[in-house]
Amino acid sequence: MNIPFYKPSITDDEIHEVIDTLRSAWLTTGPKTKQFEKEFSAYMGHSYSLAVNSCTAALHLALEAVGLKENQTVVVPSMTFAATAEVVRYFNARPLLVDCREDDFNIDVDDVERRIEDALKKGEDVAAIIPVHVGGQVGDMTGIMRLADNYNLRVIEDAAHCCPAYYRDDTTDVWKQVGSVGEISCYSFYANKTITTGEGGMACTNDRELIERMQIMSLHGISRDAWKRFSGDGSWYYEIIAPGFKYNLTDVASSIGLHQLRRADALHRMRTSRAELYTELLKGVDEIIPPFQKENRIHSWHLYVIRLRLSKLSIDRGEFITKLKEKGIGCSVHWLPLHMHPYYRDLYGYVPEDIPVAASLYNEIISLPLYPDMTDEEVHYVVDSIRDVVAGNRNAGL
Ligand SMILES: *Cc1c(COP(=O)(O)O)cnc(C)c1O
Repeated sequence: MNIPFYKPSITDDEIHEVIDTLRSAWLTTGPKTKQFEKEFSAYMGHSYSLAVNSCTAALHLALEAVGLKENQTVVVPSMTFAATAEVVRYFNARPLLVDCREDDFNIDVDDVERRIEDALKKGEDVAAIIPVHVGGQVGDMTGIMRLADNYNLRVIEDAAHCCPAYYRDDTTDVWKQVGSVGEISCYSFYANKTITTGEGGMACTNDRELIERMQIMSLHGISRDAWKRFSGDGSWYYEIIAPGFKYNLTDVASSIGLHQLRRADALHRMRTSRAELYTELLKGVDEIIPPFQKENRIHSWHLYVIRLRLSKLSIDRGEFITKLKEKGIGCSVHWLPLHMHPYYRDLYGYVPEDIPVAASLYNEIISLPLYPDMTDEEVHYVVDSIRDVVAGNRNAGL
C-alpha cells in the first residue's frame, strides 16, 4: 500500500468555481476574495479578515500593524515552523525562543515568564508574543493573556493549524473559536493545511485600525485596493503612504478557499474520525505514546503526532520513519526546534539543552499520515505497520 503524508480533499465544487473565475476574466483579488474574507469572518467569529497569499505574509503584516521596531524582542516558541520566527527577523528584531510543554507541545507559560524576566534584566524591549497552537490544539491562551497584561505584550496568534479549533476554560463555559482573545490571528491555506487554496492565508482581527493597516500594507502601501480602483465604483486615484508588500490573494485561489471553507466542518469531522480510529487502534502499543488530548479543547487534527518510548526500542526515530517509508507510508516531523537550526543556533549561540523540552521531544516525535479522505483500511495499514516495526525492534534489554 502507498500512503502519502497528506492528500488534499478537492471536489467538483472547488473545480467549477475556479473555472467560473477563469471565465469571468477577473483573476486577481476581486469579488471572490471579498466573499471568502466575509465568509471566513463569519465562520471564525472575527469582525475583519484579510486574505493574503500565505500565513507567513499574515504574520508579517500583523507584526507591522502592531508597530514592531528594530531591536525589539518577540516571544516565539522554539517548537514551531520557520515562519513564526523569520517574520520577526524581517524587522531586525529578536525572537526570544521559549520552551514548550511536554504534553501538548504548546508554549509553556512558566518558561516564558522566566525567559522574559531574564531578557528584561539584560535590557531587552519585549514587545509581543506569537503563540502557536501546535497541531491544531489551542494552547493556554488564558495564561498567555495574563503574561501579555503583566508585561504589556501585543498578542498575535499563529493559528496556521486551526481552521477550526475551539477551547474553553472549563466545562461550564461556552466554546470559543481559536483567535478570540489575541489581537490578530493568522491562518494558513498551504496545500497540506486543514483547508487549502494551494498557497494562501488569512489575517483576522476585531480591531478596525489594525485591519486597515494590514490591508494597505498587503498591497504596496496603497491607500485603495485594485478592485476598487479599476472597477466602476472606484476612482483611478491612489496614494502610497508607506513602502508596503505584495501579499494579496488571487480570486483563483479564493475560488478554492470558498468551497474549502464551506466544507471546513465536514473536513474536520473526517479528520477527527481518522484521529479517533488511530488512537483506538494504537491502544496497547506500549512503545508508542498517542497525542495528548487536553480537556476543554476541540482539536482541529491538522497533525496526529505520536511519541516513541525510545528506551523500549532498539532503533531511533529516524530509523523508525525509514522503516515505515519502506512499507510505503509517508511520515513527517513537526519540528526540528528552531534553536537547533543553524541560523538561530549560530546567531544566538544556542545549544540544544538551552530549550530542553523541545530538544528532547524532537527525538521522539513522528507525524503520521492524516487527511480527510483517508480510508479505514489505510489507517489500519499504518497502525499494523507500526506494530510490525515495534515488534521487530524491541529493546532486547527489556
Ligand atoms: C504552515 C505554517 C505556517 C506558514 O504558513 P504558510 O501559509 O505556508 O506561510 C506558519 N506557522 C505554522 C505553525 C505553520 O505550520
